[in-house]
Amino acid sequence: MTRFTKVTASIGPKCEDEHTLTKMINAGVNVCRLNFSHDTGDVQGTKIDLIRAVSNKLGKRVAIMVDIQGPKHRIGDFESDKHYPLKIGQKFILDSDDTPGNENRVQLPDADVMRSLNVGDRILLNDGKIELRVDAVFDDMVETTVMRGDEIWSRRGFNLPDTDVDTDILTSKDKADLEYAIKKNPDFVAVSFVQRAEDISNVRDFITERTASPIKIVAKIERPNAVKRIVDIANAADAVMIARGDLAVELPFEQVPAVSRRILRECRKLNKPVIMATQMLSSMVHAEFPTRAEISDVANAAYLCADSAMTSEETTIGDNPVRVIETMNKILSFADKDTIENPYDWSLMDNVPENDWSRSVSSMAFLNKASAIVVFARDTESVTQISCRRPDIPIIAVCNEDMIANQLCLSRGVLSVCDVSLFGQRDAFSAASLFGIRTGKLVIVDEEKISLRVLD
Ligand code: PGA
Ligand code: MN
Repeated sequence: MTRFTKVTASIGPKCEDEHTLTKMINAGVNVCRLNFSHDTGDVQGTKIDLIRAVSNKLGKRVAIMVDIQGPKHRIGDFESDKHYPLKIGQKFILDSDDTPGNENRVQLPDADVMRSLNVGDRILLNDGKIELRVDAVFDDMVETTVMRGDEIWSRRGFNLPDTDVDTDILTSKDKADLEYAIKKNPDFVAVSFVQRAEDISNVRDFITERTASPIKIVAKIERPNAVKRIVDIANAADAVMIARGDLAVELPFEQVPAVSRRILRECRKLNKPVIMATQMLSSMVHAEFPTRAEISDVANAAYLCADSAMTSEETTIGDNPVRVIETMNKILSFADKDTIENPYDWSLMDNVPENDWSRSVSSMAFLNKASAIVVFARDTESVTQISCRRPDIPIIAVCNEDMIANQLCLSRGVLSVCDVSLFGQRDAFSAASLFGIRTGKLVIVDEEKISLRVLD
């Protein structure tokens, strides 16, 4: 195994046909992410079926992640389709009146947002190109001053970096999408614009009221208030995504790398897998080769020991999604190999207690020069925990349920197989040879019998 860092690929118009998906999965995709901001549940549902079919046909396991839109805020409509310029220093009103807007005002359809804003809060439109500052808040209107100007038009999205928005995490669209998606048994549900741990438990309640299958929840960290509450949120969730797209709008962008490192460190301590997301190879939407900076960014995700790097537009609307996956695979594989050969900063994040059992497993493997760690796993817990110690050899997870094996596709360094008979026989060597590991010692972790052994 040369690649430890997993590849999460966003699936969209340019790669949702059988031919392209086949090539992408062959090129190394581990997790397919479906963005429900763009399509309705039924359309996304057919894509889920196709991905499963391709993965089965190839005999290559991939996990499916349904990414729900969450409370993304938008302004209302304007009088015409034209663009309205907003100038620095001018006043601009947001109100609850649904008549079309003009250069002085527009509707803010979301009453929860109106209620949550405070004087001094910033409202960032068009990815931060426009900044409004709230001067006064009334029951059905807020007065603002334009601090940074640009053109504005109907239904633009906006971000509220300073505001704790008192709103339900699931919009009516999200609920409808989730109802549908749950029937397709996705392995993960990613939740956008999480602000607090309760948001995660609310989504979990919604899911468990409808299905018994243990779908994992990924918290997308894209707001400053979520960064502040990262420990509580990560504890409530099963995995975390560093959603650098919205994060770089809501935070001063120079803080995003530092925040990313902190999230990685905290999550590793809490045994939660982390996905590094957004614009990793974005020049490849059109370009044949990545930029030097992108190559470094992807490699750094591996050097920082993220569980997965993610593609966005470069695969959904890019000219050559397969090439993007090949490129990511190449960069991650080399960086992972280099990390193992030249380990220089492992201790940087290794702040778990010395008596932690998963740490013992990792050290035992290291001291015995084992070639793999084999875990007989009933759920994802212990495998994920060992993976978070970042051992420098593969972790082979022998599961007796497909969904568990799928979910482990996200975790760093894990190779998973669902094989009821291997699981029943505790046949570690056959499991290892399935992945091409035929020689050397194995460290064997048996979750059920609570045993830990080294086998020659
Ligand atoms: P999105 O999330 O692509 O759904 O916006 C990722 C991000 O914000 O980085
Ligand atoms: Mn986002």
